[in-house]
Amino acid sequence: MTHGHRKRGRRKNGNQEMTTTGHCLCTKTRWEFSGSPTWSCYCHCDNCRRNCAAPVVGWMGVPLAAFRWTGDAPRTFQSSQGVFRHFCADCGSPMGFEAEHYSGDMQLYAASLADPGAFAPEFHVNYKSKLPWLTLADELPKYDGTLLHVSTSLNDQRA
Ligand SMILES: [Zn+2]
Ligand SMILES: [Zn+2]
Repeated sequence: MTHGHRKRGRRKNGNQEMTTTGHCLCTKTRWEFSGSPTWSCYCHCDNCRRNCAAPVVGWMGVPLAAFRWTGDAPRTFQSSQGVFRHFCADCGSPMGFEAEHYSGDMQLYAASLADPGAFAPEFHVNYKSKLPWLTLADELPKYDGTLLHVSTSLNDQRA
C-alpha cells in the first residue's frame, strides 16, 4: 500500500466506499465490509451475553454481499435451530452471527472492530433481559423484543 492512509480501522477504496475491518483477539481471524452497517444495536439477550461472557453485546448488521472473511476461516457453532455463531478457531473470540431468519445479513460483534470506538449504536433489543446491575445512561430507543420486531417498526417509521 503506497498511499493508503488508514485511520480508525477504515479506509476508502476506489469507489470511495468505506471499508471497515475487524479482528479477533489473536488477530488470525479477520473480516471486512464495504459501505455502512444496515443497523447497529445493543443486545441484552442471555444467548449473546453467554456467548461473549459480557453484560451486553454490541452488534452491527451488514449485507453478506458487502462482507468477507479475511485471514483464517472461522469455526461455526449452531447455537439454536438455524442460528450460526462464528468464532476464531484459535483464540475462540466470537466473530459473527448468521441466522436463517435474517438471511442475507452477517451480524458482527462490534467489539471486534479494528476501532471499537467507531461503533455507533442506535437502539437496544431484548431490553427486558438487561442485567439489574448494569446501569446505562443513554437515551437510545429500548425494545423489549428481538431485532425482528425492531426491523418491522424501523420499516414502519421509514415507510
Ligand atoms: Zn483469534
Ligand atoms: Zn442477543
